[in-house]
Amino acid sequence: MFTLPKEVNDFLITFTKKKYPIYVVGGAVRNLLLQKPVTNWDFATAATPEEILQLYPDGFYNNQFGTVGLEKEVAGVKLIFEVTTFRKEGQYRDRRHPDKIEWAKTIEDDLARRDFTINAMAYDGQRLIDPYDGQRHLREKRIVAVGDPDKRFTEDALRLIRAVRFAAQLEFLLDEPTRLSIQRNAPLIANISAERIRDEFFKILVSPHPDEGVLFLKNTGLLACLLPEVDICFMIPQKSPKRHHIYDVGTHLAMSLKHCPSADVITRFATLLHDIGKATTFRRDKTTGLITFYNHEVAGTRLVQAIAERFRLSNLEKKKLVTLVKYHQFTVNEGQTDKTLRRFIRQVGTEYLNDILALRTGDRIGSGARPTSWRFDLFKKRLVEVQKSPFRVTDVKITGYDVMKVVNIKPGPKIGKILSKIFNDVEEGRLKNERAPLLSYLRDLGKS
Ligand code: ATP
Ligand code: MG
Repeated sequence: MFTLPKEVNDFLITFTKKKYPIYVVGGAVRNLLLQKPVTNWDFATAATPEEILQLYPDGFYNNQFGTVGLEKEVAGVKLIFEVTTFRKEGQYRDRRHPDKIEWAKTIEDDLARRDFTINAMAYDGQRLIDPYDGQRHLREKRIVAVGDPDKRFTEDALRLIRAVRFAAQLEFLLDEPTRLSIQRNAPLIANISAERIRDEFFKILVSPHPDEGVLFLKNTGLLACLLPEVDICFMIPQKSPKRHHIYDVGTHLAMSLKHCPSADVITRFATLLHDIGKATTFRRDKTTGLITFYNHEVAGTRLVQAIAERFRLSNLEKKKLVTLVKYHQFTVNEGQTDKTLRRFIRQVGTEYLNDILALRTGDRIGSGARPTSWRFDLFKKRLVEVQKSPFRVTDVKITGYDVMKVVNIKPGPKIGKILSKIFNDVEEGRLKNERAPLLSYLRDLGKS
């Protein structure tokens, strides 16, 4: 049916020689059927974790999931094979974890506990096992729950967001009974840990259609549970006299995300969140009808800080997300001085400059504007230019050591003060950033 890479085939044979049935499962089977490259190989086998470890002693066993991970190389690329013993699952009283994991005897039992029909297929190297019509649903581009959707979503509420994730990743639609069940059961997502939700949500953000993923989440009621701050934006209008906006705030956020040219997950997240402060700063003037959102980036920054905590982002991710939202309203104007541009670069940080420009591009297109303008192009060019001249104190061509030696002073705060005065003079063009004039400046200083 398909040709498997040699390493995968050999792996299967190692198990079958010992009379352990083993199958390729999960995303790998989907990708084989879709003729997409497989980077992630998952296996299901009748062998218990102990038996797998006997075959592969350097495998690492993850107790919580009953999975043995093995480092492998396929066509020169290092990756992890994840091997899980056939399971059936018991009760899920907490809607999260089965109360106990029971090993199953057959692959059919194992497939029955899987979430969606397109994920409930198995391939043993010759034969495809497809008890729930996964191949047909793959062709029809439908996400269909295995068995009774209400039962499946109440067992494990993470599946609610996984359904949307697969729809966004694969460009599929939610099958109607599955969609209605997600709608009915959306509040159960509150039982799921922030980390597991974040991992699925981030996969939606980096999918080819993150905007549609967000709209799916909204229409199923999941967004109201996950990101109420974004959900409410769909009720905030911004069309008013003298304003260029054509969408409500929520639609604008989704459209900005759609057009954000960055593939980076935090930049995409920031693009989705950049205007959430508008929900709390919305004002409509009674007489003129004019809508304003004064200081919405300040309100938004606070909300985003709380979201970053809730999603358990790392410190670095949090810093980036907050910075991008905080400064997203930056001014683009040909009359700005170099100094103003430098201040902007220092606020945002050179490392996030391209990300904030990508956010602005998304924001522009998401407001119905062209991707760029001569003004925005000039701004981008100038950002590159002004970074060529000294940018930080450490870019100045003399050091604290020079200061001590030439001015003849001992180590102390005075050195920093002198250096930053010199930097300031260099930045504003009063001094040339070359050693000779800078040293002569220091000599004068030493004399006075
Ligand atoms: P990806 O390409 O993202 O790895 P995948 O389908 O392999 O997609 P995984 O999260 O790696 O997704 O899970 C592997 C398989 O395990 C799934 O295809 C599915 O059969 C099963 N599975 C994973 N999570 C669940 C769950 N919460 N409920 C039921 N089955 C699940
Ligand atoms: Mg996988």
